[in-house]
Amino acid sequence: MIYRARHLVTMDGPPVEDGAVLVRGENVAAAGRWADLRREFPGEGMADLGEVVLLPGFVNPHCHLDYSTLRHAILPPRSFSEWVGRINALKRTLDPADYLAAIAKGFRESARWGTTSLLNIEAFPELMWKMPAPPLRTWWFYEMIDVRSAVATEELVAGALLFFQEPAADGWLGGRGLSPHAPYTASPELYRLARDCARTRGLPWTTHLGESADEREMFVQGRGPLYDFLARLGRPMDDCGGGRSAMARLAAGGCLGPECIAVHLNDWQPEDFALVAPGGPLAGMTVVHCPLSHRYFRHSPFPYETLRELTINLCIGTDSPASNGSFSLLEELRAFAAVFPGLEERELLATITRNPASALGLQGRIGCIRPGAWADLAAFPISATNSCNIHAEVVACRAPAAWIMVHGRVVFPGSSE
Ligand SMILES: [Zn+2]
Repeated sequence: MIYRARHLVTMDGPPVEDGAVLVRGENVAAAGRWADLRREFPGEGMADLGEVVLLPGFVNPHCHLDYSTLRHAILPPRSFSEWVGRINALKRTLDPADYLAAIAKGFRESARWGTTSLLNIEAFPELMWKMPAPPLRTWWFYEMIDVRSAVATEELVAGALLFFQEPAADGWLGGRGLSPHAPYTASPELYRLARDCARTRGLPWTTHLGESADEREMFVQGRGPLYDFLARLGRPMDDCGGGRSAMARLAAGGCLGPECIAVHLNDWQPEDFALVAPGGPLAGMTVVHCPLSHRYFRHSPFPYETLRELTINLCIGTDSPASNGSFSLLEELRAFAAVFPGLEERELLATITRNPASALGLQGRIGCIRPGAWADLAAFPISATNSCNIHAEVVACRAPAAWIMVHGRVVFPGSSE
């Protein structure tokens, strides 16, 4: 089937006016000018999507579907530690049925905003067996915490390994990964085991890192609200104080690697930048920035210009509605551009397409439209009548997606829309 659109943005070359994509099975077979595809593939069926821009479906590199129902449930806190306490209290009021409903809601909202792939941090990974295959390509990251766990760290990892042996629902697209939660809730030993396990099995892994000033104060200075909160929980605090960030400590302990998908990194110590610089032990690492969550917490300024010079793989994600308003990645791009004006829109769009694809080692398969890519596509209504800067038109688009396809199957609008 050939899908025709007023504009085609492939993220693999210049935009095409009156473009088209030929989809065969689950793959893109060709993309280019409508007139050329119609001539080259005369026997193919055709669907005209109309006045839309057709793009690769977006890839959300960081979200928590569990908390899709917690929008506006927590007033902006005075500190990150206060927020952690409040969300933990809220989580205790929810049961598995609530979480399944939240996950389904998160998928619906993600699809509505043009996301076709997402990396979900899952606090209840066993829910995977209670749900049908998701409508979107989904990586299910096993969240690992041993801050006050009654089980030993190695048993926790053994439990994760068992989890990987259980099959997911038929038709589950995407995969699984590991997520030691954050340096204040996961021990260096847990990081090391998770990283080794991920490397051995060829799995992606991700973690929260350098999120808040509270985290910096805890590790660098050995004090502050997060320090006090975790000390009360019984966390061993002997890795705190001594002037080094959590990132520097973990890197020195062999707990991180360039393949890590590191989320947030709002707070850097000056010496941390050398770790991700070309030639450093974490060169090429992916950093996921979540602009609306960053704004909600009023975190320290994200050092985008420095990171850009260091050529890190920058991705933009949504985090969860517990600290953000929606699952719209375009909304996140607009929030990012408001802080860093002057960025090229094509570069912005790469942070939710090509860059997260690279983070997963799936460049050429997702996040771009080219022959051999999976047919994960999104179309947005667009009013522009010329394509002088169609990338800017996309970033400015506040309307939901008109149509999305995942793995060659139209999932939105579905029969219930
Ligand atoms: Zn998160």
